[in-house]
Amino acid sequence: MEQEDARRRIARTDVLMADPRLAEAAGRLGRGLVKAAVVAAQGRARAGEIPPGAVADAAVGALPDTASGLRPVVNATGVLLHTNLGRAPLSAAAREAVRVASGATDVELDLESGARARRGRSVLAALLERVPDAEAAHVVNNGAAALVLAATALAAGWEIVVSRGELVEIGDGFRIPELLAATGARLREVGTTNRTTPGDYAAAIGPQTAFVLKVHPSNFVMTGFTRQAGVDELAGAGLGVPVVVDIGSGLLAPEPLLPDEPDAATSLAAGADLVTASGDKLLGGPQCGIVLGREELVRSLARHPLARALRVDKMTLAALEATVRGPRTPTGDALHADVAVLRERAELLAARLREDGVDARAVASDAAVGGGGAPGVVLPSAAVSLPEPYAARLRLGAPAVMGRIEDGRCLLDLRAVPDGQDAVIAGAVRAAGGR
Ligand SMILES: *Cc1c(COP(=O)(O)O)cnc(C)c1O
Repeated sequence: MEQEDARRRIARTDVLMADPRLAEAAGRLGRGLVKAAVVAAQGRARAGEIPPGAVADAAVGALPDTASGLRPVVNATGVLLHTNLGRAPLSAAAREAVRVASGATDVELDLESGARARRGRSVLAALLERVPDAEAAHVVNNGAAALVLAATALAAGWEIVVSRGELVEIGDGFRIPELLAATGARLREVGTTNRTTPGDYAAAIGPQTAFVLKVHPSNFVMTGFTRQAGVDELAGAGLGVPVVVDIGSGLLAPEPLLPDEPDAATSLAAGADLVTASGDKLLGGPQCGIVLGREELVRSLARHPLARALRVDKMTLAALEATVRGPRTPTGDALHADVAVLRERAELLAARLREDGVDARAVASDAAVGGGGAPGVVLPSAAVSLPEPYAARLRLGAPAVMGRIEDGRCLLDLRAVPDGQDAVIAGAVRAAGGR
């Protein structure tokens, strides 16, 4: 009977939707999301979890922050470029550029003359300023698209000569040889898994060859009796066909901390005719693919009909330009973070949490670049170690905090966490402890 009464006292959906807070939210988030929160709160009241009078408050409390299902996550995994967390986080400069570009913007218009202008002209100029050895640049959706466009525009129906040691799988079943074959180009494999010499390439070049491709094996290292031909060796061998280099990670210039990672400037200076790369790996920008190199090759890519299908939106162009022109990216900050500072932060954070009765301690940790970059490189780091059950609870918090589990403890590695977010982590751990 009491249950019946309670049920009757739960306000109707339309009455609740008229609550000023929920009405405002409906304008901001859309009616559907607000109604879903209201219906869920009514359900909780019916189940006796909350009193009937608390339904509106519960619905307000359960409203999402945005109309998108994507939620912010603090990356405390110790993996700088975590593919499942969207790889590189954008810099404040890039986020602001995205915000501005997200409205109507002069992406294809010259405001001075009022005439149509080249799409993305200022980001292309920024790339060429950073990589003067490149005659031209083009931007597509991602690194894979850059490779597809190069293979389609330059080699469909022709042969691509590639080393057997560089036919790599990038991740999640994405295999470069399959991607290339899908474009209608034929792969001419040379050398062996562990050894390929410039002579192997030279012997395979024929009238059918469109270009020689070098792929950076970005997610594994081969050691022992190995040999791969360098870009300089291939360019210097007078093969008579373009040398295309897929560098993967998107470094525009050498990164002293990652001496084995190829970069665009060095590859072009060594004689590469075309370089392809990702924008959201070590470059630290938005997801996109970057093509840099000889003018006529870049032009044939940009003018190919497929280029239209692979083009990026105005927000990507804005984010990429702000990344290239702007201050050091969060990825760069994380890579260059001083381990002594990280340790200090971990100790401070752990001490604060212990004061709240949390079993927290600062520990040394090994971070990694991730995102299929710099395999085998260990970045010394520091973490806050918590009891393992925190991992799941922190994942479900707002914001979500994603750590990693090691030896039965939940580690929150600080290398990829901007230092301003330590307080956010402290709050999240306290909230998780109370659950
Ligand atoms: C990551 C990577 C790609 C694919 O780039 P996406 O931006 O993920 O499409 C291609 N080649 C190499 C060598 C890579 O490391």
